Amino acid sequence: MFECFCCPVCGHTFVRDGKTLRCTEGHSFDIASGEYVNLWITNRTHAGDSKGMIAARHRFLESGSYGFLLRSLQKRIGDHFNKQIPRQSQPFMLDAGCGEGYYTAGVATSLHEQGLPVTVAGVDISKAAIRRAVKRGRDISFAVASLFKVPLPADRADCVLSVFAPVCGAESARILRSGGLLFIVYPGPRHLFGLKRVLYEKPYENQDNTYYLPDFEKVDEYMERREILVRGSQLNDLFAMTPYYWRTPADAMAKLERLPELSTELDFRVAIYQKQ
Ligand SMILES: [Zn+2]
Repeated sequence: MFECFCCPVCGHTFVRDGKTLRCTEGHSFDIASGEYVNLWITNRTHAGDSKGMIAARHRFLESGSYGFLLRSLQKRIGDHFNKQIPRQSQPFMLDAGCGEGYYTAGVATSLHEQGLPVTVAGVDISKAAIRRAVKRGRDISFAVASLFKVPLPADRADCVLSVFAPVCGAESARILRSGGLLFIVYPGPRHLFGLKRVLYEKPYENQDNTYYLPDFEKVDEYMERREILVRGSQLNDLFAMTPYYWRTPADAMAKLERLPELSTELDFRVAIYQKQ
């Protein structure tokens, strides 16, 4: 655990000494209770999603409404490790922007159930998210860390997963081995359109995402779509997971609160890029 990470100050490898990670240059980082490590070097004390937002996200994801997306990632990432990666090569996967660890733990469990010896790590800038993520399982190394300076050595990962998180192409290219895959999950045009229809007079479809990834070749892109019915307090939890949470006028929010249930489209796009 945690030895997969490298020092965020100098990039050297860590040796674990009890509750401390120490690099060869003498920089040390304590392993927090609950077993995660804070490797984000910053003067800011708070960043990323708050505790309340993480709790809402956790409750909603645990309802299983996004389970079909998780199953598709389990299948695709499992295929990659089964078919492309030799078992003796210390296979490794990073969930970059892992949030409260729903996809990290779900994919890790599936890989380990298939007998694949893949080391799995997750990083996020939100301490509240990482604190929640570590409760999911002890065989995943979780760290509070920047996505734009990931504390991993170059050419370490066979797979990087990015679900609704900022994508740093240069950093993904640095940490992936040649032939490794970058999975990017982003919202399709109709994602949560039913929710937007309640909130806005003129709801717009999401614009298509384009990523500038010169070190990669796009090898596949597919969609996962469903219509779901969201009820009661789940509606608030879903709303708190979205960017609209921050920019919705009070009267629209009141409209949402009066609804007993809501039918909405889910529209996920999964783009798969291979490091050249
Ligand atoms: Zn160091």
